[in-house]
Amino acid sequence: MKFEDYRISDEIKKSLHKLDFRKPTDIQYKAIPPILKGEDVLAIAQTGTGKTAAFAIPVLDKLQYIKFKRHNAGIKCVVMVPTRELAVQITEVFKEIGRYTNVETFCVFGGVEQGPQIAKLEAGIDILVATPGRLFDLTSQGYIDLSTVEVLVLDEADHMLDLGFIHDIKQLITKLPRQRQTLFFSATINEKIKDLAYSLVNKPVRIQI
Ligand code: AMP
Repeated sequence: MKFEDYRISDEIKKSLHKLDFRKPTDIQYKAIPPILKGEDVLAIAQTGTGKTAAFAIPVLDKLQYIKFKRHNAGIKCVVMVPTRELAVQITEVFKEIGRYTNVETFCVFGGVEQGPQIAKLEAGIDILVATPGRLFDLTSQGYIDLSTVEVLVLDEADHMLDLGFIHDIKQLITKLPRQRQTLFFSATINEKIKDLAYSLVNKPVRIQI
């Protein structure tokens, strides 16, 4: 199967072509259809498997139509990641794949001034990639409203737990709508990760690469 045969928009097909992504990787093949259908996903996949595009492609495809209908309707997708480097990298992937769409992706992370991040948030964005600590701070101060979020992605969930973000994540979850799609990605799995995963997802499609 090639990306050309997928039920995704021409705008996204065009950017995939430009990136020279012709065929889905294993994780993309398994994750894109259920995500497009609105199902929750619980995936065990390592970096290098194409996992970022596995959620970026369907999320962008879904959100571009929402945006046609409701301009600037608040943040529609939050991607939680463990590190600043990963936040920047994932944002780049969303921007590249979403190049021909009207979906705006932005990232926030700790260790830098809040001012420029707040200015951009106030201008209105659709997808927010964030480390849990900074996301918690900005949300607590009222600069981020999570009540409009339709898709939550946790990437490298195992790494987020290792870095001690569990408290921030649990607090943030209480501010998200219960009715949402949740995509949970982790490179490894153990009891703690399973506990967190199953407290967040609803009847997930399970994928192991
Ligand atoms: P990731 O696992 O998301 O870090 O992606 C690993 C690498 O695979 C990145 O350099 C991507 O640009 C590349 N990649 C992702 N999906 C595809 C694809 N379908 N075809 C070719 N390269 C891809």
